[in-house]
Amino acid sequence: MVYQKLKGTADLLPIDTNKWQFVEEKAKAVLHTYQFKEIRTPMFEQLELFARGVGETSDIVTKEMYDFKDKGDRHIALRPEGTAGVVRAYVENKLYGPEHHKPVKLFYTGPMFRYERPQSGRQRQFHQLGVEVFGSRNPATDVETMVLAMDLFKQYEISDLKLVINSLGSKESRKEYRKALIAFLEPHFDQLSRDSKERLYKNPLRVLDSKDKGDQAIVKGAPSILDYLDEESRRHFEAVKEMLSDLNIPYIIDTNMVRGLDYYNDTIFEVITTNPKFGANATICAGGRYDGLVEEVGGKSVPDTPAFGFGCGLERLILLLDHMDYPFPEMSQLDAFIVTIGEQADRAANRLAYHLRHNGLAVEREFMNRKPAKQFKTADKMNARLVFTFGDAEIVTNVVKVKNLTTGKQAEVSLEKLYADFTRTYKELILKLEKGE
Ligand code: ATP
Ligand code: MG
Repeated sequence: MVYQKLKGTADLLPIDTNKWQFVEEKAKAVLHTYQFKEIRTPMFEQLELFARGVGETSDIVTKEMYDFKDKGDRHIALRPEGTAGVVRAYVENKLYGPEHHKPVKLFYTGPMFRYERPQSGRQRQFHQLGVEVFGSRNPATDVETMVLAMDLFKQYEISDLKLVINSLGSKESRKEYRKALIAFLEPHFDQLSRDSKERLYKNPLRVLDSKDKGDQAIVKGAPSILDYLDEESRRHFEAVKEMLSDLNIPYIIDTNMVRGLDYYNDTIFEVITTNPKFGANATICAGGRYDGLVEEVGGKSVPDTPAFGFGCGLERLILLLDHMDYPFPEMSQLDAFIVTIGEQADRAANRLAYHLRHNGLAVEREFMNRKPAKQFKTADKMNARLVFTFGDAEIVTNVVKVKNLTTGKQAEVSLEKLYADFTRTYKELILKLEKGE
């Protein structure tokens, strides 16, 4: 039996995790400047939470759920997205209480699970970085959060990215729009794709973002949702546009953009790459305002809590950086490599590695007892700054040879002194190496 990973999953090897850590660290630094705090919620929840939170008619719930009964007969699902769990945690832990600064700004990263047809940029286990802001209806929150999303990408100098925005208005105005859209689509019913036929009366807005070419041609002439906004939503959307312009952030309005999840109102947005190597699945980040979700999950006893959030697909971001040949930093940054000659050297190397590491240095050593030339080659390949060499003589004298691989200069150091007063002896060694012996 040969085991293989399940379809739609991936092994991230060290060459990959080097990139992932880099991207995650950069993102966390940006999130800090926007004062978002990390939240970690469980990887699985009651199925019902997602059905409620994500929407019963969404693709995620109807087709893509990884759900199962546990041994206690609970119906459970691996989380397909981050928002529902964070909202549940917000309610359960009463983060709306007076001791919490408003709005509450949270971020999360981690794996999500969807039963999808795997392809480039689409997996069954994938990773999202997402944020949620709770408690502000201010359009400045929409803008700050969208700008944060753009800032996460800005540091990589990705040129082919566009911010696409739209407004879904309020629940009430959407009802009017829904009627108008159905009236517009009905005469084209026979030409619509099967999916869209099915959606026409259940969720006609989803016909607008159909991936079917025939549907796309039809909806080009559809009425614009922006013509149906009520006064409050219209003013909200105007304010959002103004504040984006204040920051000189370019955006495109796509009145046919709706989101797959059911819970959004007013501002929604996507960050899409136009990189020619990308092809399909070009949406890297998507989100918007969902003022009704906290009540949907938490019930009437929770104070009215408007919210705004997004989710970013990390696989897609890293794929884009790879397509751009982004110069990720070197993987190994090694302070010292210890060469051993003869088995006698093992004990001494063991001790030296321990001391160097306890003084904060990154150290690798020889374990395989290979020829010295091979070891030096390895040290070079690992980009080691210093090489310490132990042979029979060094074990007797307790003085070890050190070479700086960058300059080629050599020096000697007494281990007795090094172990007794590391900081001073090490500093002297570095100085000696600068001059060379
Ligand atoms: P799509 O239309 O591509 O299926 P979606 O609307 O289902 O996307 P969201 O639920 O909004 O996606 O998730 C936010 C982001 O997470 C997406 O923009 C994408 O970058 C990423 N994402 C979603 N599903 C997957 C997946 N199966 N594999 C990898 N990344 C994904
Ligand atoms: Mg999807």
